[in-house]
Amino acid sequence: MNRRDWLKTAGALGAAASLPLDALALPDSNSHAKVETDIKRLNLRHTWTTTMSSSEYRDVLMVRYMRDGITGYGEGAPIVRYKEDAKSGQAAVASVNELLASTNPWHIEVLEAEIWKRVPGEWAAKSAMDIAIMDWLGKKLGIPLYQYYGLDPAAAPITTFSIGMDKPDVVKQKIEEAKDFPVLKVKVGLSTDDEMIASVRAATKKPLRVDANEGWTNKEEAVRKINWLETQGVEFIEQPMPAAMLEEVKWVRSRVHMPIIADEACERPADVLKCANAGYDGVNIKLDKAGGVRNAYKMLQIAKGLGLKTMLGCMVSSSCTVTAAAMLSPLVDYADLDGNLLIANDPFQGVSVKEGKIILPKGPGLGLKML
Ligand code: MG
Repeated sequence: MNRRDWLKTAGALGAAASLPLDALALPDSNSHAKVETDIKRLNLRHTWTTTMSSSEYRDVLMVRYMRDGITGYGEGAPIVRYKEDAKSGQAAVASVNELLASTNPWHIEVLEAEIWKRVPGEWAAKSAMDIAIMDWLGKKLGIPLYQYYGLDPAAAPITTFSIGMDKPDVVKQKIEEAKDFPVLKVKVGLSTDDEMIASVRAATKKPLRVDANEGWTNKEEAVRKINWLETQGVEFIEQPMPAAMLEEVKWVRSRVHMPIIADEACERPADVLKCANAGYDGVNIKLDKAGGVRNAYKMLQIAKGLGLKTMLGCMVSSSCTVTAAAMLSPLVDYADLDGNLLIANDPFQGVSVKEGKIILPKGPGLGLKML
């Protein structure tokens, strides 16, 4: 290479290198973000029944973080189990709106520490704010969030598709709708468990992952039910007993042969060690419990460091939250990221699923398109 070519190459490299530096530049002191929220009613395709509730729709909190001509989208799905709802989440965001608007988003660590100090609970709302800022940061850098975290999108796992509790004919129809998914997730934990599994098994031979949603309230019942599930082609059981029943986990685990995954028992980083010590084999991490993408990533790293199986789940949500969670999915053993597939009026297009495998969008940030 002669000197002229070298200078040309060096110049081009310099120009390319200057792009992220521009993106990283601190907003000027007059630059303020605009933060908007609204409550969106997501209509469910089927009535959704678990041990916790039965519903036709879910209200979620949408957050838009707008700065420098870029909009970051966030969503939180507050649920009764954690004593949160969309209105209380919206009020939580309003209470820190000025802080969000005036703080440099590149200082997200400091910003979130301050938000968390000011806002008790409201983890779904915190997640909505975190997702919106992370989407904004990714867009500002011009890279998808999986790249921000150094992850290979080709390593994204398959996701299960959840079959909610229902009458046998509806279960059959749901399984037909889930024909592209190689593994199904089935909700149990009520007195109708036998019928539910029988309905599923009458319609498919696919491997199942079963979620009892804290439904079995004594350890003997949990062992009996899990031993029975072992004869039904089930890979693992999620949250068989109430979250507070930590001491019973080892007793149950020593009498069954399948992994036991914590969900309701594992909300935030400190719970990961608690669950490992209790004898759970793995943890199901959700952005709405953790308070966003950043805390979910932290939990995944702690769980992996402790040798636990890792799983990413979601609430009933639009493609906004589900895509944000999916960005971390190359890190996990199991994914249950189907919340967006359960609704009829998704406002976004983002993550997709091909023969069960999670396909991450390639656009910057979350790579969402408005529908
Ligand atoms: Mg669960």
